[in-house]
Amino acid sequence: MLLEDIFRDPDLRLCRYLLAKRPMQEFVQQYVGSLSLLPPARRGNIYIFQEGPDQYESEYDDYAAFDCNCEYTRKTGIGCRHMIRICRDLKISYMETVHPRWKFEKQPTAVKKRRRFSRSTRRRRR
Ligand SMILES: [Zn+2]
Repeated sequence: MLLEDIFRDPDLRLCRYLLAKRPMQEFVQQYVGSLSLLPPARRGNIYIFQEGPDQYESEYDDYAAFDCNCEYTRKTGIGCRHMIRICRDLKISYMETVHPRWKFEKQPTAVKKRRRFSRSTRRRRR
């Protein structure tokens, strides 16, 4: 069964296509964490999440940029559970929370490099 079917969330399909295995695992962890969050309080562009004694403030600003003081996204480049929750509420693609360096499209460059390397090894053998 596919992830988007398990969670009944079609936007997960795009994440599955664009993210490599390791960042996808990180993303899914945050996604699952986002499901149990209580609805955030809102102050302008700031969404306030209360998690037991801890409080986190996530911002989705007028320029469609995310930030969150849980620091997870600053460290990993992958949307934290708070941002993912905001995306789901506002119907924004989850990929908006993921740094471009994690998108799979960059992969062909690495493949090309590997090909170039194997060609040069073949030449050396002749
Ligand atoms: Zn956060």
